[in-house]
Amino acid sequence: MLRSVILAASRSSQVERLVATAPFTRDVVRRFVAGSGTDDALRATRELVADGLAVTLDNLGEDTVTPEHATATRDEYLRLLKLLSAAGLTPAAEVSVKLSALGQMFDEQLAYDNARAICAAADEAGTTVTLDMEDHTTTDSTLDVLARLRKSFPSTGAVLQAYLRRTESDCRELASVGSRVRLCKGAYQEPESVAYQSAREVDKSYVRCMNILMSGDGYPMLATHDPRLIAIGEDRARWFDRGADHFEFQMLYGIRPEEQARLVGEGYQVRTYLPYGTDWYGYLMRRLAERPANLAFFGRALVSKK
Ligand SMILES: Cc1cc2nc3c(=O)[nH]c(=O)nc-3n(C[C@H](O)[C@H](O)[C@H](O)COP(=O)(O)OP(=O)(O)OC[C@H]3O[C@@H](n4cnc5c(N)ncnc54)[C@H](O)[C@@H]3O)c2cc1C
Repeated sequence: MLRSVILAASRSSQVERLVATAPFTRDVVRRFVAGSGTDDALRATRELVADGLAVTLDNLGEDTVTPEHATATRDEYLRLLKLLSAAGLTPAAEVSVKLSALGQMFDEQLAYDNARAICAAADEAGTTVTLDMEDHTTTDSTLDVLARLRKSFPSTGAVLQAYLRRTESDCRELASVGSRVRLCKGAYQEPESVAYQSAREVDKSYVRCMNILMSGDGYPMLATHDPRLIAIGEDRARWFDRGADHFEFQMLYGIRPEEQARLVGEGYQVRTYLPYGTDWYGYLMRRLAERPANLAFFGRALVSKK
């Protein structure tokens, strides 16, 4: 219930204004976001890489409605990739891209062209791109764009969401040689017609999808903070004899950092998803919706500012 309210608020510009101007917001944002500028992103990447983590950087922003804005987002990724390469941070660092930030909502071809330019820049920088997955109305379009991009850049990563009923079948399609697939639970509010609604059903679907990916021929990227799913992932790695070079765990910046360090210590490849930029509202609200207990963090920040 609280999750639905927070996710509904994530689409409200009125609530956004309220949250963005609240005096305590900065402290909360800082926990989940590297900072507003490219320099912040590079600094945080350096620190994570020094700790043995791989990184995927996300220039925050989504639901872009003008070609100019979509082009500006593309250009920021091109700049970022040049800087990452110059700093010697590739291939440890790759980038995650939302097609809706590149124009998908009004012009799929423009989003494809922008994503292709980013893939080419990533290739030149010696790294790769993963296409984030957004709400279910975009899944077909995103997988179409992915298939087109993979013709020239086969290592372009996909994201599949275990809460969608279709995902087991998508996993089967994508568990092929060279195919990088990030499996997550899914962060959007979706209707029962397309998505499992209970946590138990989503978890069971995650395990079924994990089994397909871990027993398949691709490169699975298990994106979860869930202790039970991580333990099952470790188990499957043993069953299917997948060493650290043949799959990875992924977690979000600021969430369970001690677990990220533990897995690195165990010899696993772990990638931290590192968002940066000023357009943090939708991202932050999805993190709060996943764990309404994080609202207490808001509360503490509020009290400490009084
Ligand atoms: C690398 C990465 C990339 C992602 N990309 C996408 C994407 O492209 N599309 C998409 O829809 N979703 C994406 N997600 C989000 C994902 O779908 C889930 O919403 C999110 O990961 C929470 O699910 P969980 O598997 O961690 O399990 P949950 O059941 O939500 O959480 C399990 C445990 O993890 C901890 N935890 C989880 N979330 C939080 C939090 N916000 N704050 C503090 N602790 C927390 C808690 O201990 C919790 O008990 C991504 C997640 C990761 C890690």
